[in-house]
Amino acid sequence: MDPSIGALWRGWRDVLSRLGFQTAALDAKLLAGHALGLDALGLATREGDAVSDADAALVAALMQRRMSGESVGRIIGMREFYGLPFALSPATLEPRPDTELLVDLALKQLPQGGHLLDLGTGSGCIPIAVLANRKDARGLATDLNPDALAMARANAERNGVADRLDFAQGNWFEALAGEGAQQPMLFSPSPASAGGRVGVSEDAFDLILSNPPYIASSTVDTLSPEVKDFDPRLALDGGPDGLAPYRIIAAEAKAHLSPSGVVLVEIGYDQAGDVAALFEHHAFAGIAVHKDLNGLDRVISA
Ligand code: GLN
Repeated sequence: MDPSIGALWRGWRDVLSRLGFQTAALDAKLLAGHALGLDALGLATREGDAVSDADAALVAALMQRRMSGESVGRIIGMREFYGLPFALSPATLEPRPDTELLVDLALKQLPQGGHLLDLGTGSGCIPIAVLANRKDARGLATDLNPDALAMARANAERNGVADRLDFAQGNWFEALAGEGAQQPMLFSPSPASAGGRVGVSEDAFDLILSNPPYIASSTVDTLSPEVKDFDPRLALDGGPDGLAPYRIIAAEAKAHLSPSGVVLVEIGYDQAGDVAALFEHHAFAGIAVHKDLNGLDRVISA
């Protein structure tokens, strides 16, 4: 006899649990639900329904991916961040809960009607979370990888902020080169939705945000399989000492900031001293370190 939906996901829960997965029950429910096209309520109310061999095989395939270290978010292709849904692709880092601190700080710092820049936006989770909570604000998001920008744009549409978020492809501030860039308008919204405004490099930003790659190149391969095998290396590798992006941001941010503008960057837990020194070197004032919920240094503001 075919197993019931309930027996199937519980069986996989026990397999994952025996293998040491801390969130075995949640993982098994989410993956079984995804394979069967059921949300949490559907899974609960249809516990007793029989599962066909074909559906059981679909469930098994997702569980195998989980057992090989792929995260539930990657398998499902969706991840929640700041209470909002974000689609993921191989081109984008999976949003981390730690990064929500950067959004909290940005919401505090952004003046009324403010304009923000997010460098290396990936899934777009940072500027989209800020703009979804601040209807008065607008922004520009950049990424070196066009596939990431396409994902970020889809996420902006999904979360209803596409008319206030522009996109530009390029490496750090080079994306703002505007007319100098090869296809400066490629990722800009239609003139109608942008109110006739061309966002690229038009005016100074009140806030410059980034969660750049900050892992030292030689350390990337020592990260957990969930990270090193599935998050894009471009989003992790911060050069020989992990600080290369901060050198660029500290050196060039002032040219793009309004006089009272603020930079907020996510950092690795042991990088506060080095990153603060870079901003000091470029004569930034009011440099502060902000700790995440685990008590670790997580964001520098300048
Ligand atoms: N916080 C991520 C990790 O620990 C790294 C993200 C990044 O480099 N920006 O894997």
